[in-house]
Amino acid sequence: MRRLDKIYLGTNTKMYKSIADTVEFLKRLDDLTADISRNLLELFVIPSYTALDQARRTVKEEYIKLGAQNMCWEDEGQFTGEISPLMLKEIGINIIEIGHSERRHIMGETDEIEKKKVSAALRHGFTPLLCIGETLEQKNYKISDEILKIQLKVGLNEVTEQEAKSIWIAYEPVWAIGVNGIPADEGYANEKHGIIKDTLIAMFGKDIGSDIPVLYGGSVNPQNAEPLIKEENIDGLFIGRSAWQADNFYKIIQSVLPLFKEKRKIF
Ligand code: PEP
Repeated sequence: MRRLDKIYLGTNTKMYKSIADTVEFLKRLDDLTADISRNLLELFVIPSYTALDQARRTVKEEYIKLGAQNMCWEDEGQFTGEISPLMLKEIGINIIEIGHSERRHIMGETDEIEKKKVSAALRHGFTPLLCIGETLEQKNYKISDEILKIQLKVGLNEVTEQEAKSIWIAYEPVWAIGVNGIPADEGYANEKHGIIKDTLIAMFGKDIGSDIPVLYGGSVNPQNAEPLIKEENIDGLFIGRSAWQADNFYKIIQSVLPLFKEKRKIF
């Protein structure tokens, strides 16, 4: 089965939900989505570190995969305030989100740092979810494609063809994310996903490169989720605010699933 025969839908709860909020959210999401075949849906939630342990005890990974919002590239050492891959493994999480725009633009992470994190995540058997995207300034200079290619070529520089089979990518234009974000329209997002897919194919070959899921993120909401998912190159959605209430997230899941099946001709 191709990896792209299922839709990828997930949320990063940033620094918003407490342990209790996370547990309540996950329980509700788990109940609401219990009947949806996981052959068709890869559902994931990326809570705060402090909630990860309880989160793992709350939901089974066959139903909801869990991720960490960040991770140190070293296993141990003098890295005050960092979290090691071994610590995350101990909890039993699945995904490491790497290079979210807030990590890059507020915390100053570079493509070289993301590269080290991608390699560490792969070494420990996690799925690295590498987030890439251009700033508004870069978009205005019309260098978005070059920026995306650099972020991929540096971030995935040490990844082998075999390892590329477990990579996920999120295209999150910086200008589209968060309360002040303007969502990318579906045509623009699809075009950039095409650039990302061409770059992945150039890096890992047709079979492996074209099978890497590329998710769109940045002010996804109940109105634009459907047109986005109808686009050929968009394999899933990485949602912030509009997914933080389980019932709202479920409504988006319900609305895009049939469109995804139609697009991939799954009956
Ligand atoms: C994000 O922070 O990655 C994100 C996509 O958030 P939002 O959907 O709220 O723009």
